[in-house]
Amino acid sequence: MANRPASAPHPTVIPRSHPASGPLRRDPAKRRADNLRRLREHDEDLAYLAQLTCVGLKPLSRYERPLNDGLRAELVALGLVQRTCRRRTEEGGEVDETVFSRHTPLLEIYRQAFDGGPLRLSRELGMLEGYLFGFPPCCVSAYLARPYAPNGLDREEQAILFHWACSGCSITPLLLPRYREALAAVREA
Ligand SMILES: [Zn+2]
Repeated sequence: MANRPASAPHPTVIPRSHPASGPLRRDPAKRRADNLRRLREHDEDLAYLAQLTCVGLKPLSRYERPLNDGLRAELVALGLVQRTCRRRTEEGGEVDETVFSRHTPLLEIYRQAFDGGPLRLSRELGMLEGYLFGFPPCCVSAYLARPYAPNGLDREEQAILFHWACSGCSITPLLLPRYREALAAVREA
């Protein structure tokens, strides 16, 4: 040890010329959890939507606000592509929203149909929105005919969904356990 100059690097620090492997590489699941946690620290709904979209339960999701660069980077790290769209309110104002998906063509369909358009939807655009968001078509039709009709769901069940379930829905009960798993992944991240 006496022969080693004080400025020499610590002998255990070995320069790497190739990517780390084995235990030195961060676990991908851990990395995803870190991304989700940082989104959740901003807004749990944003992280929840990102997870639902990552696992394929929602083809496309909308977050009704613009995102800063840091949050955009978290979505990119999760494998999501994103667009900002501008919508017109009934009062003549404008709002920016962020849409994200694993699939660029879906974002393009959304942008073509909704960017620059009103927040208020025609029946046709409501059906398209429901399709892109992964909502059961029965629920979308029922909601467009009569919003928030009684559906017999527990408050807790309805609260973790982004669509209003139709009465006697045969699809929503299949979605609920998967949505719960996605929310648990966000809360445990
Ligand atoms: Zn339904």
